[in-house]
Parts: sequence; structure tokens; C-alpha cells
Amino acid sequence: MAESSESTATFDAAESIDDLIGGTPLLRLDAFAADLFGKVEASNPYSVKDRIAREMVDAAEESGELGPDGVVVESTSGNTGIGLAAVCAARDYDLVLTMPESMSEERRKLLRALDAELELTPAEEGMGGANRRAAELADGREGAVLARQFENDANPRAHRRTTGPELWRATDGEVDAFVAGVGTGGTITGVSEYAKEERGAEEFTAVAVEPAASPTLSEQCSDGHDLQGIGPGFVPDVLRTELVDEVRAVAGDDAKAAARKLARTEGLAVGVSAGAAVAAAAEYARNHPGETVVAMLPDAGERYLSTDLYE
Ligand code: PMP
Repeated sequence: MAESSESTATFDAAESIDDLIGGTPLLRLDAFAADLFGKVEASNPYSVKDRIAREMVDAAEESGELGPDGVVVESTSGNTGIGLAAVCAARDYDLVLTMPESMSEERRKLLRALDAELELTPAEEGMGGANRRAAELADGREGAVLARQFENDANPRAHRRTTGPELWRATDGEVDAFVAGVGTGGTITGVSEYAKEERGAEEFTAVAVEPAASPTLSEQCSDGHDLQGIGPGFVPDVLRTELVDEVRAVAGDDAKAAARKLARTEGLAVGVSAGAAVAAAAEYARNHPGETVVAMLPDAGERYLSTDLYE
């Protein structure tokens, strides 16, 4: 937490990083299809996952599980860890993250800069090893709370409370379809809950995107793939499949091609899962002329500079 002396001045400034999360803009993606928009989650401090990090920490505080000297524990190789690290640093909580040792150096450095404690688990044990170690650490540490993004209701709730209403406001309620890659399923579930239950939007279509190499939702099989952030290889507890209307499987090369085209044509370099969502959304929009379609763009291209996305 920053040290400060009391100030009575009122400036147009955020009180904390919490206030910088959400409220992201839509960008028109004319180069791909008419009436197609991207929701630019790189406009969060780090990524779309900042939304659920804030909601999960809020929920743990409100339930009393997370006290003043509490420790948050999570196994994550990606954006959720970064979001949690930012929120925990600003609220002065310790954070312990477990992740496979195969994680990129830049990711480890960013997490350490945000004051997270990292415990690396054997690469050959994958996320399973990281999950087991997180549970052990949480058991053995007083005041520790496991964030459990794949099971935590606070994850879809973050999207029901923020992402969904933002889509409605930005389109004057005219959004017909929302296309998002499924990692935990929190984004598509929360937005679809808002659209179908709170707005009663029967006409609304939720399109889930998964890797063609690991079509868990469409063909019940899973395998290795190169679409970081989506395609966990199982159906997460958080994902309410009954609120998903269509599943589209996208090949890694098509996702990368769409991300590169977005960078060249619109000037916005995004991550590979955003490329997958745009590829699927462009096809959907071309098949449904006249519909207003929004594709989720979860994070920025900079986080992928050590991969083959932008060479
Ligand atoms: N893309 C990226 C880059 C992500 O980090 C995530 C979250 N794992 C997703 C897509 C998928 O979002 P969700 O977990 O809400 O399904």
C-alpha cells in the first residue's frame, strides 16, 4: 500500500486500482465484418481477469474468510494471477501463486514486481501439479483463502455485474450476439446470465469459442493446443452450458491470423484468445447480417511477445 499523508483536495483521480477496472470501450471492427465490435479489455490495468480478481477478493472479505492479515492463494499461469497480484498489493494482502515452471520469464517478473510470492511446480505435472500445491499451501497457512477461479461464483458474478451492463449501455441494448473464448467460462456465463435472466433477452445469442485442437465443449475431447487463456480441457464448474447457444471451434492458425490482421488494420495488438474470438465472431456476423455482434478481446498483444504470435 502506498504511504500517504492526508489530503483534503478533490481531484479527478481514481482512489485505488479498483476504480480503474472495467468500463472498457468497444471498438468497431469494420475490417472483419459490418456491425462487429471488439470489447477492449486491455483497457483494464492488465486484462479482463482484473474484474474477477477484484470480485473474488471482495467476496472473500465480505464473507469474513479473508481477514486483515489474510493470504490469498491461487494456482494460475496467467492473467488471473496478475489481476490478483495487483488487487492484493493495493489492499496489502499477501498473495501466493503456484504455477508450472514452464511459465515465461516476463510473466514471472511482472508478478514479482506486483509483490506476489511465486511457487513454481514441475512442468511435467502441468496445472494439476500447481492446483495440488496451492491446496496444500492454503491448508498449511493460517488465514489463507483459495481464490478457486474455476469454481468461484464471484467469477461469473463479476461479468454479470460489470461486463454485461457495459455491453447494454454501449449498444443501447442492441447487442444481439456476444462471442467469447472459454477458459473458466466466467465471462460467457456472467454476460449470458445478465442478458437472458436480468434483461430477458430471448433474442440474445451467446457464442462460446474453444480451440479446434481441443474441442471439449463441442466434441467432448481434449488435447494440447496453442490458444493460451482458453481451452482448459475440461468443463469448468463455473460454466453454465445451458446459457451457451453455440460453440465454435477455432484453429490456432486462424486465431493468430485474426490477431495479426486486427493489429495491422485497426492498430490494436491483442492476445491470441482475442484473435480466436474475432475469427469466430467475424464468421458469425457474416452469417447473420444486420445483427450487432461483440467479440471479447481479453488482453493486449504485449503479453505474447515471447510467443510466435507477433514475430
Ligand atoms: N483469454 C485470456 C487471455 C484469458 O486470460 C482468459 C481467462 N483465463 C480467457 C480468455 C477466458 O475467460 P474466462 O475464464 O472468463 O472464460
